[in-house]
Parts: sequence; structure tokens; C-alpha cells
Amino acid sequence: MYDNNNIFAKIIAKEVPADFVYEDDKLIAIKDIEPQAPVHILVIPKGEYIDFEEFIEKASYQDKTHYYNTLKEIANKECGEHFRLVTNNGAWAGQTVFHFHTHILGGKNLAPTLG
Ligand code: 5GP
Repeated sequence: MYDNNNIFAKIIAKEVPADFVYEDDKLIAIKDIEPQAPVHILVIPKGEYIDFEEFIEKASYQDKTHYYNTLKEIANKECGEHFRLVTNNGAWAGQTVFHFHTHILGGKNLAPTLG
């Protein structure tokens, strides 16, 4: 069950401040409060989806297309052609905020996370 007390719901509702990079009627992009790279942005749909799986299952085709196209535009604008995208799906994968989001990480020579 989606819990609308999560921090991203409060940021979307403007109850908690954040450093906004982008906003439209469907999504927001904010700077991560604890950046793990020179550029660290979170792209967050305004709809209430707990995680990636729920977003893929429940969001409309148009909303998913808009989300990923806008994510790409933000990544290119903020990082150029070199960036990493991360979505943690579920607590065992490291998800700590249960409102679906994608991390954009950018900057020179990011440390590898796999392999
Ligand atoms: P997750 O661990 O769920 O994949 O990512 C959650 C991210 O949200 C973390 O990178 C964390 O630093 C970030 N975060 C948590 N609370 C806040 C907040 O209040 N403001 C912002 N801008 N980021 C937050």
C-alpha cells in the first residue's frame, strides 16, 4: 500500500522544500540531499507509485513515455552524454523512499558499482 507520508510526496506537495531542477504536471526532478556523485538528481513522478514495478504496471503508456523521455532530457542537460541511471526496486535492493524514482548520477569517472 502506498503511504503518502513519504518524503517525496511531501516535496511534490511543497510541504517540504527541495532544490528543484525541473517540474511539470506529471513529474519533478530534484537534487539529492546526500549526493553520491558530482551530479545526483532524482526524477520522481507525481503519481502515487511505490516502486518501479508498480509504475510499470499501473501508469499509462503516455505517462511512462513522458517520464522516460523527460528523464533523458534532464540527464543530457545536466550530465551531457555520460551518466548512470539507478532505480532501487524494493528494500533488499536498497530502496529507502517508497515512492518510485530514478537516480541520475553524473560527473567524470564515476566509480563502477557492479563487477
Ligand atoms: P533510494 O534509497 O530509495 O533509492 O533513494 C532515496 C534517495 O532520496 C536517497 O539518495 C536520499 O539521499 C534521498 N533523500 C532522502 N530524503 C531526502 C530529502 O528530504 N530531500 C532530497 N532532496 N533527497 C532526499
